Amino acid sequence: MPPSTPFATPGIWLKANLHAHTTASDGDSPPATRVQQYRDAGYDVLAITDHHTVVPIAELDRPGMVLLQSLEAHPACPGGPIYHLVCLNVPVGFACGEGESAQSLIDRARAAGGEVILAHPYWCGRTIEQIQALDHLLAIEVYNSTCRRIGKGDSSVVWDYLLATGTTLPAVAVDDVHHDDDLYGGWTMIRAREATSEAVLEALRAGAFYASCGPEITDFGYANGAFFLRCSPVAEISFIGRGAQGRSFFASHHGEPLQEALWTASANLPYIRAMVTDFAGRRAWTQPLRPTA
Ligand SMILES: [Zn+2]
Ligand SMILES: [Zn+2]
Repeated sequence: MPPSTPFATPGIWLKANLHAHTTASDGDSPPATRVQQYRDAGYDVLAITDHHTVVPIAELDRPGMVLLQSLEAHPACPGGPIYHLVCLNVPVGFACGEGESAQSLIDRARAAGGEVILAHPYWCGRTIEQIQALDHLLAIEVYNSTCRRIGKGDSSVVWDYLLATGTTLPAVAVDDVHHDDDLYGGWTMIRAREATSEAVLEALRAGAFYASCGPEITDFGYANGAFFLRCSPVAEISFIGRGAQGRSFFASHHGEPLQEALWTASANLPYIRAMVTDFAGRRAWTQPLRPTA
């Protein structure tokens, strides 16, 4: 668990989509069009993550964008069909071997300089035990725009079970865009020292990011015996911990929005994560934080 939050870390905010498909697998737009779409929408970072194939980023025109050369791989899951693993920053030709285990794939991706995110756990229906069998994941997807098609975009509850049972992972929000109407629904704000792939990976490894479908979070932390959060105008601010631990704050009945919350809480809590919800129902999620007195 990171000792501090990205909000207290020097650097710049970079808006990222870490999961995108193109015509190199089952997406409806070519890689160059995907890059253009996200660049035009103000994103700074894009990972093209086609199924089974790594699109070479050297061939893509990308002024103003950090591209992560990536892949979505599908190793078998013991007791279930397959995992969906997003492998960021892997070499061209990197692929899941025939019969290769998920752990072997994760280990090889990391040895090659990459990192692996567990994609859309709610949509996949993997059990907590099947997820906890994997070591050295970078993060899980708490939100996936494409999975909202079957009402399973939000994997918050899966994340909470992992956190509550000792698997401390941060979370990202992604589009997993296949079709143009999956664009721009969920993204990850990364606090990096500069806009380079090296700095983005460094920030991801440090847990210096938060996930959003709309709201902006500007501060979250624990000081003087209380958790605090500041954000763009929202309807709800929730501090969420293990089991029944936590507290929510709501906008007034007159519709006056919240932009901050302060919750006095024990420094003995194992962790608290924060989640905000705007008046359109769009959420943003911080990483879990262990309070220190
Ligand atoms: Zn997938
Ligand atoms: Zn995907």
